[in-house]
Amino acid sequence: MKPLTPEQSMYTCVRCGACRDACPTLDITGREADGPRGRVLMARSLLEDRIPVNAEIEEQMSRCLLCSACVDACPVNVQVPEIVMLAKEKIAEHKKSPFLVRTLKRFFFNHLLPHPRRLQFLGHLLWLYQQSGLRWLVHKLGILKLFPDSAQQMEAVLPDLLPPSERKPLPSFTPGCSEQNKRAGKVALFRGCIMDVMFRETNRHSIELLARSGFDVVVPDDQVCCGALMYHNGQKDTTLELAKKNIEVFEKLDVDYIISNAGGCGAMLKEYEELFRHEPEWLERARAFCHKIRDISEVIVEQGTLPKAVGNGETVTYQPSCHLQYVMQVKRAPEQLLSRVANLHYRPLPESNLCCGSAGIYNLLQPKMAGDILHKKMGYVKETSAHVIITANPGCLLQMKAGVHSEGLQNSVKVVHIVDLLAESVERAEKQASTG
Ligand code: SF4
Ligand code: SF4
Ligand code: SF4
Repeated sequence: MKPLTPEQSMYTCVRCGACRDACPTLDITGREADGPRGRVLMARSLLEDRIPVNAEIEEQMSRCLLCSACVDACPVNVQVPEIVMLAKEKIAEHKKSPFLVRTLKRFFFNHLLPHPRRLQFLGHLLWLYQQSGLRWLVHKLGILKLFPDSAQQMEAVLPDLLPPSERKPLPSFTPGCSEQNKRAGKVALFRGCIMDVMFRETNRHSIELLARSGFDVVVPDDQVCCGALMYHNGQKDTTLELAKKNIEVFEKLDVDYIISNAGGCGAMLKEYEELFRHEPEWLERARAFCHKIRDISEVIVEQGTLPKAVGNGETVTYQPSCHLQYVMQVKRAPEQLLSRVANLHYRPLPESNLCCGSAGIYNLLQPKMAGDILHKKMGYVKETSAHVIITANPGCLLQMKAGVHSEGLQNSVKVVHIVDLLAESVERAEKQASTG
């Protein structure tokens, strides 16, 4: 059956309410307007010109996390995030943001994110800020207090960046090195833009893990940002340019899969086909590209062979990324991999289906709602008594770190990307084997 367009899907909502329990914002306020049904109804009224663009409707649309949990729960596949995006586009046409906001957005979305070298330069500056004593001074003088709480919290949980001398480009080719699996295939790593600046180690670990699971790994240097932040902030033209560039770069490679290690990036890459729905000359190429996108955990479970891995006796829990579970539909693979690590105690996280409140830059744009969602999530984390929260997306990782920080759990709970935990566990197993 041909999938419905967002415009068509807007009319298929039968108001059954099956999506209610899945929606994190409805879970917090209990107001129908903060749930999928309410949002579809409001967006529809707006798009049919039955209600005008106003501050209230703008706020209601902005409060949607675009997490897709409702789509997963909906029996007739109503595309709520896409419908909310249509409403946001209409709102943007009618309302100009203040000059400063527009300038900052243009700089961030058009002149920074799409340019890997500029992002790396920003990474150097951040490293300098973290290491030079400037950070200490900024804290001492209370300068951060001039910024909103959410920005202060994010600053506090930023990972320590590697020095520029250690942030070398990722190897363009790494041969597979698994004794058990010589035929896993050849894959390309999508390194992500922010991921590659802030979480370079995770990208390195991803290459190691894939190679040790049997895959040859290539990393094309001319790949660019996936475009997710631009797309969700109404910058469709920039998103299309980035998508075309990525399609061109990866179709030149003879690989079986294109691997993402961040739920947010992977989900956006999977959406390229939908992006080119009205551009027949790109549609086929986008479709071929999308069919190759896989999450790292999924491909290791299906085609690879995870080498022996040993944990440190820690108790871990897993916060799934919404984009990974609902858009990429990767639901079991991460836990399956964790179950293969010896000496690791896994405790399922209650209500792990609900978003953590990060959702791109949602936590900065909607700090109150994001804070309430996170506070509730941390209550569930406490129930597990876990020492380690595992995530599979940089946004979730920073958000969960912010949660650990605001609950004062820094000395007892760590937040770790699943790839880092697996790579370390494999290394530990090797060390144990070599020392007998
Ligand atoms: S969006 Fe889907 S699940 Fe929610 S009320 Fe409409 S039809 Fe039911
Ligand atoms: S996308 Fe997420 S936040 Fe938005 S309506 Fe659906 S479940 Fe709720
Ligand atoms: S931050 Fe994580 S849990 Fe929240 S929307 Fe993004 S992917 Fe989902």
